[in-house]
Parts: sequence; C-alpha cells; structure tokens
Amino acid sequence: MAMKMMMSCKQAAALLVAREDRDLAMSDRVGLRIHLWACKACPNFEKQLLTMREGLKQWRNYTQQDNLDNEAV
Ligand SMILES: [Zn+2]
Repeated sequence: MAMKMMMSCKQAAALLVAREDRDLAMSDRVGLRIHLWACKACPNFEKQLLTMREGLKQWRNYTQQDNLDNEAV
C-alpha cells in the first residue's frame, strides 16, 4: 500500500521547518518529496516558508544597510 508509506501532513510540515535549519536525512528528503507530490496542502505551506525566508533575507539586508549608514554618519 503506497498510502501507508506516506508521512502525515504534520510530519511533512515538521520536516519542512527543520529543513530551514539543517540538512535532512536522505530518507526524510525522499519521503518529503513524495508527500509534497501527493499532497495538496503542504506545497502551499512550503511556498509560504520560502516566501518567509526571502522576506527574512531582505530584512537582514536592510538592517545591514542601516548599520553601514550609521557608521558613515
Ligand atoms: Zn500534506
């Protein structure tokens, strides 16, 4: 049964969050990929995470620029 091999959305979400901080084990990566392929909700969550990460990166750039401006003054 293929369905039995699939992780739950809860597990998939936990892996997506964990992936932001660390590399996943190969088995987790494969399981996550299968889940994202089969699930309708989790790819949206992944997109949100990626958007959030991009926003965070931009925010970091802004604060770094602020620091540079302050040093120039
Ligand atoms: Zn899911």
